[in-house]
Amino acid sequence: MKRGQYVVIGLGRFGSSLAKELIELGYEVLGLDKDEEAVDEMSEMLTHVVAADSTDEEVLRSLGIRNFDCAVVAIGDDIQASVLTVILLKDIGVKQVVAKALSELHGKVLEKIGADRVIFPERDMGIRVAHQLVSPNLLDYIELSRDYTIAELQVPKRLCGRSLKDLDPRARYGCSVVAINKKNSVIIAPTAEDTLDDQDVMVVIGTNEQIESFENAVI
Ligand code: ADP
Repeated sequence: MKRGQYVVIGLGRFGSSLAKELIELGYEVLGLDKDEEAVDEMSEMLTHVVAADSTDEEVLRSLGIRNFDCAVVAIGDDIQASVLTVILLKDIGVKQVVAKALSELHGKVLEKIGADRVIFPERDMGIRVAHQLVSPNLLDYIELSRDYTIAELQVPKRLCGRSLKDLDPRARYGCSVVAINKKNSVIIAPTAEDTLDDQDVMVVIGTNEQIESFENAVI
């Protein structure tokens, strides 16, 4: 097990998937939910599980939650329970509290009461899927700022054997290829002579417009 202990509160669809992935990544996870069935379902998969109400301060104290590195509040529908849980977690001294919000307003409240990070899984996944629908070769992207993005673009078959010099993305479109992810290796800061193979993934940095024009013209 790696260092780093997480408590995931609310084992619904989002919380249970997050908790399982943390286990896969080698971390210890305590899963907590007030619903016995949700807890039973996860009991084999997580390090520990507890059926309890997270709005009960005594419960959080007796479980020693303040010693965990990070608490994720994955309660969605019950906004009151989500808010109370975040307040209690910050009150007992949990260093990092990440909370899931269902709406912008819910998110604002969570920020105001001290959540260290607020996530909007449904909203963000909707945005991601929209980007992927309009650019089928876009595998993933990170928005660095309002204007700048890092995008992973799938190399189509017809670019096989072409070098970056042939594509010349910086001179023609203003964006740069910062890495090429190949089947068994990654080329970081590729040179103009590096060539593309089928199934390669190009990691491109630039403004949204630059990446879009590169994608439309080349990919
Ligand atoms: P999702 O959309 O990810 O499935 P839900 O809001 O439907 O999210 O599920 C959240 C989970 O949080 C449910 O399993 C519910 O039992 C649990 N939950 C809600 N309130 C509390 C609470 N006060 N204490 C512990 N668990 C709670």
